[in-house]
Amino acid sequence: MRIFISADIEGTAAIADWSEALKDGPGYPEFREQMTAEVVAACEAARAAGADEVLVKDAHQTGRNLIVSRLPGYVRVLRGWSGHPFAMMFGLDRGFDAALFIGYHAKAGAESNPLAHTMNDRISRLVINGEVASEFTVNAYTAALEGVPPAFLSGDRGICEDAQRLVPGIGTVAVSEGFGRAALSMAPSRAVADIRAGVEHALSQDLSACRLALPERFELLIEFNNPTDAYRASWYPGAEHPAARTLRYVSDEYFEVLRAIRFLTA
Ligand SMILES: [Zn+2]
Repeated sequence: MRIFISADIEGTAAIADWSEALKDGPGYPEFREQMTAEVVAACEAARAAGADEVLVKDAHQTGRNLIVSRLPGYVRVLRGWSGHPFAMMFGLDRGFDAALFIGYHAKAGAESNPLAHTMNDRISRLVINGEVASEFTVNAYTAALEGVPPAFLSGDRGICEDAQRLVPGIGTVAVSEGFGRAALSMAPSRAVADIRAGVEHALSQDLSACRLALPERFELLIEFNNPTDAYRASWYPGAEHPAARTLRYVSDEYFEVLRAIRFLTA
């Protein structure tokens, strides 16, 4: 069994402020530790469930957050950003049996995590086929493009609920809940234990229950906070600019949607 893990930090247990998520922030070392602990727990659980290969994409900010000396020997890790449109899912291919999402966070416009965002802080909302999308939405469809079921997600309560709406069979562990700029969290040690148990349980289930069908047509709307960002990005081939802060892009090919997101949000 081959398992792919995409790891972020804004949905790790107890995180509540950007100074804890960004590399130069004073709180970052503690949450880098927590991100690593949650990812190692997911790797160990995958191994216990029968994985012979685990590939971890470090998918936050610099792509260089995990304390790599802590990764078990059977794990390979992808660090940094290649520029490939798969982005947070780079390294995924059709040969994987399941995709896991660790430390994921609520979408831009949601209240369930003080660090809620989608892609970056210049985007007020990303909408796919009429639904406000999260990074999980984008990345779950990437998994679907490769025929890989999204099997497990950990993060704040809001993203867990969104994930279950999109993929009813997915296993989730909600580690925290946001209230404005505050977060109510389980103890980080408990989150690590629950993620280990949750991943092992998810991977022992029938993974076909987690398959996500790819829509036949995609309408992507990107709403920026600032009209200058929308104008700048509006020159992307095929992009429409229906309103001052909004871009629209339509395609039948999800890879083209990913390519558009890669350049429109850069
Ligand atoms: Zn992040």
